[in-house]
Amino acid sequence: MVDQLTRPEATEGPGIEPLIPIAPATFPYLWFSGRQVPWEQATVHVTLVGWPSIGAVFEGIRGYWNAEQAALYIFRLREHMARLEMSMKLQRMLPRFSAAELTAALLDLCRVNDAREDVYIQPLAFTLGSMWGSRAAMGQLPEVFITIRPIESDLLKERSLTAGVSSWTRIHDRALPPRIKAIPNYANSRLGSNEASRHGYDVPIFLNQEGTVAESSGSCIFIVRKGEVVTPPVTASILESITRDSVIELARTALSLPVHEREVDRTELYASDEIFLCGTSMEVTPVTEVDGYQIGAGRSGEITGRIERLFHDVARGIDSRYAHWRTRVE
Ligand code: PMP
Repeated sequence: MVDQLTRPEATEGPGIEPLIPIAPATFPYLWFSGRQVPWEQATVHVTLVGWPSIGAVFEGIRGYWNAEQAALYIFRLREHMARLEMSMKLQRMLPRFSAAELTAALLDLCRVNDAREDVYIQPLAFTLGSMWGSRAAMGQLPEVFITIRPIESDLLKERSLTAGVSSWTRIHDRALPPRIKAIPNYANSRLGSNEASRHGYDVPIFLNQEGTVAESSGSCIFIVRKGEVVTPPVTASILESITRDSVIELARTALSLPVHEREVDRTELYASDEIFLCGTSMEVTPVTEVDGYQIGAGRSGEITGRIERLFHDVARGIDSRYAHWRTRVE
């Protein structure tokens, strides 16, 4: 309970004006390597901007507020923490905090900030000092911080996106591992997103080194053809997406739809009856045009709509099934 927690006192700062104005706090506290810190006090020196991020890994997690139940449900918290552990392991970061400790810290942070709305929660781990993975840096403990901010869900809002196949190839496991959530991977996403905007599209769709469909800049992709749901496999240069996993499970078990994880050709995109993107930020969002080709009837398809509604109801705890995916902040 909020009242039983000791809130850290906001102490007076050193009286020095920050060189760059600090983004205003959306919630008063964040968590930094073991303690709750008032937002304004969580600053670092300007010389640390840049290099520590090349080894940084993070998670993006949503909390859905259910007003009727006065409950905040964190979606698939266990899986997000497991992926953070995997990302840190691949970056050879020392396990300074266990998944259980980070989970407790995250839930405490929701309580101390009295979060009673839809939220986006981001744990991020980075290592200071030697950036090149030298032996000396290997022994260094990572810093971890967790931030929380309000974010409105776009589910059931009947929005849709246009997409363009990118001229940039998705990063490959032989260079940067797309399966983990590492900051450097987003340099590739950024190139694709910039190109898509310049060409008038909302989002890019990347092909991988083999020339088949990979994913978008911050979300995974599903197509629907002849009643079958198809998505590229986790070996197609994609993030091991938790929303993708959830959609597969919901489509198969609750909607009894055939789902195939297999390579997807570029022209299959154009020939699809429906396409949607999915991810923690993206949730489930229809794509109605790719490279100027209209997809299906040019609006959200029937199967996409069913998946989106079910995803919404499950994530928000309106549908009581899949209870193991929801962590209620008590
Ligand atoms: N691919 C990329 C590149 C992403 O950044 C994201 C967002 N985390 C996703 C896919 C979707 O992953 P998740 O469902 O775990 O949020």
